[in-house]
Amino acid sequence: MIIEPKVRGFICTTAHPDGCAQNVRQQIDYVRSQPPISGAKTILNNVLVIGCSTGYGLASRIVAAFGANAATLGVMFEKPASDKRTASTGWYNTAAFEEFATAEKIYAKTINGDAFSNEIKQQVIDIVKHDWANGNTGGIDLIIYSLASPRRTDPMTGETYNSTLKPIGKTYREKTVNVLTGEISEVSIEPATEEDINNTVKVMGGEDWELWIDALLNAKVLNQGCKTVAYSYIGPDLTNAVYRNGTIGKAKEHLEKTAQLLATKLSPIDGQAIISVNKAVVTQAAAAIPVVPLYAAILYRVMKYKNLHEGCIEQMYRLFSDFLYAKNSASYDKNGFIRLDDREMQAEIQAAVATIWPQVTTENINQLTDLVGYRDDFYRLFGFHVKGVDYTADVANIERSIRSIKE
Ligand code: NAD
Repeated sequence: MIIEPKVRGFICTTAHPDGCAQNVRQQIDYVRSQPPISGAKTILNNVLVIGCSTGYGLASRIVAAFGANAATLGVMFEKPASDKRTASTGWYNTAAFEEFATAEKIYAKTINGDAFSNEIKQQVIDIVKHDWANGNTGGIDLIIYSLASPRRTDPMTGETYNSTLKPIGKTYREKTVNVLTGEISEVSIEPATEEDINNTVKVMGGEDWELWIDALLNAKVLNQGCKTVAYSYIGPDLTNAVYRNGTIGKAKEHLEKTAQLLATKLSPIDGQAIISVNKAVVTQAAAAIPVVPLYAAILYRVMKYKNLHEGCIEQMYRLFSDFLYAKNSASYDKNGFIRLDDREMQAEIQAAVATIWPQVTTENINQLTDLVGYRDDFYRLFGFHVKGVDYTADVANIERSIRSIKE
């Protein structure tokens, strides 16, 4: 079967197994080209990654496994291949990740299911107790919380909530781009209702993160000094109305407040709950946000020109090496957040983006922005446009098994 990208709106409904594997390989190679995570040997044995299969979560898992030789247990929500349908990109990524980890004798197990549910939390606890807590490496040393989901079913009530990407207070009109065609148009988004705001906080706020930590603390599977990290985004004035001051921003505020609560809950075991504010990158979650892809295409252009551009893996390596397991003391912002978006938010970078923004039209988009690079990254998310992969070749087997998952 020849696999081609089939893009519908802001997602691609096909994924290329060999391209996904190559993406994972390249991220591993990047981590292996850097110094090992210092000091990690004694304090970073076992890592739980919730949202482990794509974007920031996958990159975190790769850094833990291949930068620190840590055992990783991942949770994801992905689809295996069926009949003539390819698997989802996160499925192929994870199949490749487990393959590479196992080849290097690095422990890797994955659970495919709804991380918001009580059942999946219990499955994680059972595996940790069986595989880690009874062994000589103890329980969990680090929990990465990297979920991005459009909906969540509350495990207590069974009610399902949908998140939205809406402004608050008034209608938002701004330029946006069709990533595939480069066509610039104006998008107009009606303001959120109170219900939209509450629902988005329910899905993308900190409630589930807290439920995870409560469950893991109650089960006594966290090691002394265990850290947990969740990812946030702030971004520039340009995207404030739809991001930071919008429904998703309210959810991020809730997530950030939850970190304070979790820090208190974790203090008896000398644990830490940390927020890392990451840079805007192309992921499946980010592609869905209006206006952000145009901002990112300009940002890519400016940051590449200044040689400051980073993707998920470079940032996650910095997160581990310069902050979580740094040799020297790391600096946090006034809110206590790690700022991996420091380069994106440099005044000079933002001034350049703001100068370009009003000038961009459909006609000059390729001169003024790096839409080509952004689009390439978008295709790469699904295993397309990856160097070294022959896309004209027949893929004999679209089913790729994940070693630790019995189908
Ligand atoms: P992503 O879409 O690449 O990854 C989402 C992950 O969550 C996947 O592994 C997916 O399988 C998993 N997932 C989704 N729903 C699930 C469920 N119900 N059960 C189990 N797993 C589930 O997203 P991303 O962009 O890497 O986002 C991760 C975090 O980083 C989010 O909190 C996001 O807000 C934050 N962030 C993203 C950006 C960006 O530009 N992409 C910037 C800063 C912060």
